[in-house]
Amino acid sequence: MHERPIDVEHVDHRYVIAIDGPAAAGKTTVARRLADRIGALLFDTGALYRAVALIALQTGVAPTDAIGLAAIARSAAVEVRPPSCRDGRLYDVWLDGRDITWDLRAPEVGAIVSEVAEHREVREALLPLQRKIASGAAVVMVGRDIGTVVVPDAGLKIYLDASPEERARRRFREAALRGGTETLAEVARETMHRDQIDRSREAAPLRAAPDAERVFTDNLEVDDVVAIVERLARDRHIAFAESRSRS
Ligand code: C5P
Repeated sequence: MHERPIDVEHVDHRYVIAIDGPAAAGKTTVARRLADRIGALLFDTGALYRAVALIALQTGVAPTDAIGLAAIARSAAVEVRPPSCRDGRLYDVWLDGRDITWDLRAPEVGAIVSEVAEHREVREALLPLQRKIASGAAVVMVGRDIGTVVVPDAGLKIYLDASPEERARRRFREAALRGGTETLAEVARETMHRDQIDRSREAAPLRAAPDAERVFTDNLEVDDVVAIVERLARDRHIAFAESRSRS
């Protein structure tokens, strides 16, 4: 993840769509469908923080060790690629020749990832790679601070939200489909705990950019949300493919 710094002031970010919001608001599901429909890439920045947390667990680096975690963030060769199989994944994540896509979703990773992401040193180490990806082709970037810190001049900023109950239910259903054994109450606790840390941290806290479009999704189907965001993207001329009909 070692990259040269990019001068963010002089890069054109009009084709970046930033999607931020709390845990399990449906950001990545919406982003995957949107990216496919408008001919953009998808980059879920949460995968980077989860990869650092996973490596820390595997190598015995404590979630409090900012320097050790930042060293992991700078040196780990994490690759995010289009999905290689249809097992529910929205993208592949590889580390040292190994597919770690589902390892990143383990409850042990979820339990520490927000503590890992709290450190300014870790966030700074992950910034150049995120900005490099934002400076390329059209990309839908998902995270917590994309519209506020990573790409503040993104062509479109969305803040996706849903009630805590609905988000916990969605995350629980997803995990159960993959054979997860956590209860709804455990999933609810974990997502609320992460939100609390993400919202209250000093470095790049979770919040909507002042110019973000807020979309509240409790009573919407995924396709309805995609349609809303796609319309906003087309209004801003951020779309390179014709919409394919929904079947
Ligand atoms: O999106 P996901 O739930 O996979 O993100 C896992 C964690 O990574 C978040 O709870 C947050 O602590 C951290 N994160 C972050 N900034 C981002 C993306 C994720 O702090 N841009």
